[in-house]
Amino acid sequence: MTTINILLNSKTIIFFLGIGYLLTFILISAYSRDVIRALPVRTFFLGKCLQSCSWFLVVLRGDIPDFLTISVANSLMFIGASLESISLLRLRNEWRGGFRHLYRLSVLLSIVGFQLVVLIHSKEDMRIAYSSLIMAVLLAPLYRLIKGPSPLMKIIGYIYLFVVASNLIRGATALFTDIPASFYTPGIYQLFYLVMSYILTILSIMGFLLLWKEKTNQELIHYASYDDLTGALNRRTFMSRAQSFLIRCARKKEAVSYLLFDIDNFKDINDKYGHHVGDLVLKDVTKRIGQQLDENDLFVRYGGDEFGILLPGKDESASSELAERIKKMLETAPSNLPVAYTISIGVLTIVPDPHTQLESMYTKCDQALYAAKRNGRNSIFRSLTS
Ligand code: GH3
Ligand code: MG
Repeated sequence: MTTINILLNSKTIIFFLGIGYLLTFILISAYSRDVIRALPVRTFFLGKCLQSCSWFLVVLRGDIPDFLTISVANSLMFIGASLESISLLRLRNEWRGGFRHLYRLSVLLSIVGFQLVVLIHSKEDMRIAYSSLIMAVLLAPLYRLIKGPSPLMKIIGYIYLFVVASNLIRGATALFTDIPASFYTPGIYQLFYLVMSYILTILSIMGFLLLWKEKTNQELIHYASYDDLTGALNRRTFMSRAQSFLIRCARKKEAVSYLLFDIDNFKDINDKYGHHVGDLVLKDVTKRIGQQLDENDLFVRYGGDEFGILLPGKDESASSELAERIKKMLETAPSNLPVAYTISIGVLTIVPDPHTQLESMYTKCDQALYAAKRNGRNSIFRSLTS
């Protein structure tokens, strides 16, 4: 008996769907002012708003003009779903290029097409087939989430793939079978469809908020790990990564080399060409030297014009060869800057033991760098203490 009651109460289920959507923007708007200002969140928020308006119109079928419950409700659903798609694509930085124009055009054509279906062939099954197909098309670009970098993004991609498949099945059911595909016809199909819609609504909201949190967390970690200006590692992150490399090399009894370098007469560059050009030199040196390094090498900006490079697994000859290559490159290869510059490098190679501290390597290398400066600058000096 209970089942029959639920089946008969389709309007209640649709009403609760509307409530589900309404809860989305209460939840998001209460989340944080900073979050709501972000474009992907605003887009998602608006998309869910329009979808909830659509569900509320659908529930009023019979009580208000059909134009509102059919034409307006479906158009709102198409726009809402497309905004949901766009927000997730924005979050993945994939909302760009010619695809945007094509997508906007498809949304417009979908709405116009629906009005034509209503005018020309307004059978409910035909409308259901058309709108299900359109929903599948509008959400289809979200399959790209499956290729996303995190398990969360992949799962959300599969959820949307399921939604796309369900819409295609619903459309085909309406078009090719006698099974009633309408929300208004009580039956197990109706119950299944509405409950699935309800669950997917909640999942999509939770999924979006979690994805947003994941993205902002990654950005925070990035900002906390890298130097703003040059993109080299900052001191704190370098120290912790370098220490674990030292332990690994100590275990394998492998050599580690360490380069400390500083731009020559950098103050003069700042004074003569301005701080902005000084900044460009800092970026330039990081970029060009970064291109010479291997994946495992750690490149840090200690501050000002002083940088360090830890070279795990590189012995004396490999590190000397790299230092010479960097020096020569800066002397010879032209850069797009109004000023030429050189650097002085201190080099140290050791085979670390489990107690080796980076600080003591830094001190020795700093003495070597000082010697290189005293040697007339634009030179390399190797620390002889290990
Ligand atoms: P030396 O050859 O002995 O290294 O001489 P130097 O002139 O390069 O002296 P030093 O390395 O001590 O100069 C560091 C200068 O770097 C001092 C400071 O004004 C400047 N500086 C520090 N941070 C920045 C920055 O972020 N941007 C710019 N443009 N300049 C910076
Ligand atoms: Mg300097």
